[in-house]
This record gives sequence, structure tokens and C-alpha cells, in this order.
Amino acid sequence: MKLLEGKNVIITGASRGIGKGIAEVFASQGANIAFTYRSSDKKAKTLELELAANGCKAKGYKSDASNFEAAQQLAVDVMEEFGSIDVLVNNAGITKDGLIMRMSEEDFDSVMDVNMKSVFNMTKAVLPTMLKQRKGSIINMSSVVGVKGNAGQANYSASKAAINGFTKSTALELGSRNIRCNSIAPGFIETEMTEALGEEVVQEWRDQVPLKRVGTPDDIANATLFLASDMSAYVTGQVLNVCGGMLT
Ligand code: NAP
Repeated sequence: MKLLEGKNVIITGASRGIGKGIAEVFASQGANIAFTYRSSDKKAKTLELELAANGCKAKGYKSDASNFEAAQQLAVDVMEEFGSIDVLVNNAGITKDGLIMRMSEEDFDSVMDVNMKSVFNMTKAVLPTMLKQRKGSIINMSSVVGVKGNAGQANYSASKAAINGFTKSTALELGSRNIRCNSIAPGFIETEMTEALGEEVVQEWRDQVPLKRVGTPDDIANATLFLASDMSAYVTGQVLNVCGGMLT
């Protein structure tokens, strides 16, 4: 029996990187996948076909996670197409790095909106369905820098710390309805988000990691699979650091 057999899942920001890795692992475990993206139409279409090859239902939605109305509409569209929402993975995220001295208000606001407000938007959008079902698992993609901070990423680390607070509050509010909520704090994971950094910076990160390697989207996808499945039925309100031991 596959771990997510027949479960209907929404993953935000899955056209590439960690979200794509999660979609692939979930599909291989029997889930039907509704995923979102912001602008990568071609990549989304390719992923749709790749996921469907597992025999599951898969559909990409161009939907801005930072937009409240768009999130509401997405939940309606997914219910129409899939009939239930068992798992929500709030993964969409961006960076706009810079020292606070030089950070513009726009760069602060956009990172908070895409990374944090999106979690509120999507949680609120799926709640009526999950409450009716009396079950659900919500997984929010945080970051180790939301736990420890990072110079040059005040906006990003604030958005990720806020996600952890939101996750715990959601778990406390909804535990009695059998809705679980956890977050994952990845360390340094090789994706387009980190591609722009030079080899020297990547080597510095590697040196700080007890496991002596950077992470892969699959490393995060496997932890997300655990939190999405009934294997974690007694786990809620937690921040799971998946960082090769970096925060130890
Ligand atoms: P990525 O490669 O840059 O991919 C970002 C994904 O989010 C893309 O699918 C993108 O869609 C989508 N997206 C961006 N803005 C969106 C919006 N407004 N609405 C809907 N979708 C949107 O990023 P990643 O490295 O996979 O990161 C995924 C998550 O993990 C993020 O929350 C990130 O903060 C977190 N994280 C990453 C790392 C790391 O080292 N990579 C570490 C810790 C945490 P388009 O392709 O259409 O732009």
C-alpha cells in the first residue's frame, strides 16, 4: 500500500525546485496532485504530464499564492476537479536579499506576502473543506534561517519565523478537528533559488553541515511525505529541521 494512496494534495510553487520534488515523490506514493506556479507555464505543463505517468490525476494552476482571492478561487477549482483536499503543502517562496540598510519597503513587503501571507491565504481557503472532512494535514515550508536568522535576509528570515508561529497556532486551533499542521525548516538545498550563489559560498555552507553535503529536493520531499501521511498521525505543531544537522 502506497503512503498517500488516493489522497488529494495541493502543493504551491511546484513548477521547479523543492515543490517539484515533493510533487514527484507524492505522485509515486499514489497521491493526486493539484499544484500551483506563478509564471513557468512550460515547466508546469511538462510536470503535469510527468506526474500523470504515475497513473495519478495531476493539474497545474497558475495562481499567485500571495493573492487572497486567487487562493479562494484555487480551493474552489480544486474541489470541483478533485472532490476533496486531504493535504496542503505551502511551499511557494521567494528571496529578495539585502542588508536592512539597503532593503526597500517593496522588497520587504513582497517577500512577506509571497512567503508568509500566502500561508494564511491558502490555510483559510482549504479550512472549510478540511473541517467538513474532519481531517487534513497542512505542511508549511519554513527555513533554518527562520530559526537562527541570517545577515542579508531580514525579510526572508522574518517571513519564515512567522510561518513557524502560524504553524503552531494552526495546530493548537485545529487539533481537536483532526487537522494537523507542521512546518519543515530546510537547510541549504540545491535549487534555482540557491543556484545564483557561487561555488565558494556553497562550499562554505557544505563545511558548516555535519553531513558534509548540501541537501536535495528529495531530502525535503521525503520529510514532507512523512508529515503528509498517516505515519505522522500523532505529530502536530512541530518545526522539523531538515538541514543535515546544521542547526545542531
Ligand atoms: P525555487 O526553485 O525558486 O522555486 C520556487 C517555486 O515557487 C516555483 O515553482 C515558483 O513558480 C513558485 N512561486 C514563486 N512565487 C510564487 C507565487 N507568488 N505564487 C505561486 N507560486 C510562486 O525555490 P525552492 O528553492 O524550491 O524553494 C521552495 C521553498 O523552500 C521556498 O518556500 C523556500 O523559501 C524554501 N526553502 C528553500 C531552501 C533552499 O535552500 N532552496 C532552503 C530553505 C527553505 P515559477 O516557476 O512560476 O516562478
